[in-house]
Amino acid sequence: MEKIEQLYEGKAKKLYSTDDPDILWVEYMNQATAGNGEKKAQIEGKGSLNNHITSVIFALLKARGVNSHFVKRISDTEQLVRHMTMFPLEIIMRNTAAGSFATRYDVEEGTALKKPILEFCVKSDDLGDPFINDDGIVALGLATEDELAEISRQARAVNDALLDIFKAIDVQLVDFKIEEGKTSDGAILLADEITPDTCRLWDTKEGSGKIEHLDKDLFRRDLGNIIPAYEEILTRLKNLAAKEGVELD
Ligand code: ADP
Ligand code: UDP
Repeated sequence: MEKIEQLYEGKAKKLYSTDDPDILWVEYMNQATAGNGEKKAQIEGKGSLNNHITSVIFALLKARGVNSHFVKRISDTEQLVRHMTMFPLEIIMRNTAAGSFATRYDVEEGTALKKPILEFCVKSDDLGDPFINDDGIVALGLATEDELAEISRQARAVNDALLDIFKAIDVQLVDFKIEEGKTSDGAILLADEITPDTCRLWDTKEGSGKIEHLDKDLFRRDLGNIIPAYEEILTRLKNLAAKEGVELD
């Protein structure tokens, strides 16, 4: 497989075309951003960790019957994925109140939710990723009614599988963001990344009583270095994959 030309540079990844129009070459960068890019830093090792973490998670999801765009990890910082037309949506699932949800409704961070909440935001840095409901998505043509039903079904299936995965490694899956796209033959699939940049992950192993963040809130809230936390997540996920006999590259 050959890398041909850069198609896009985002806040965390670069996308390249390949000699196969259905395959993209993705490079994970060390850049960390928060607040839609207002806070920025280069963190040595982050690109490699996220590339490895999302690759293991996609493999663990596949073993649970959840398919994704992931094809293969090809180096420490690069992977091949299926080339999709993305829905311009941030698809957020919440199991525990935290972040903007806790602020919006003045709920204490850490409050268990009686059911998982599926939320959508329009993916737009300029607009600050505004919240949108199902009718808004269909009315603006961001997805059809049928596409939205399938996206929602998949988001809940991803949540069920991720809850199972993180529980097995003593981590509370508080909330996360995914993206979905459509392949050239019209299949809707989970895409982008699932990493501690896009999930809130709280350690339940230490039992110190206070929340131990193993995610990007360490960076967003200036709570400490993300690298040891991301390394811990990767080690635990790899151990789980080995235990389950899930093959990694
Ligand atoms: P952002 O665009 O938010 O700054 P990234 O730096 O992570 O984020 O860039 C990755 C981009 O790649 C995102 O815009 C995402 O929607 C897009 N993307 C993710 N997976 C695929 C895929 N399989 N096909 C096409 N685009 C994808
Ligand atoms: N999230 C993300 N990208 C975004 C916004 C949110 O990956 O642009 C993730 C975030 O890491 C968290 C979840 O989505 O796991 C919910 O985030 P929230 O809406 O609470 O936003 P925040 O408090 O991060 O602004």
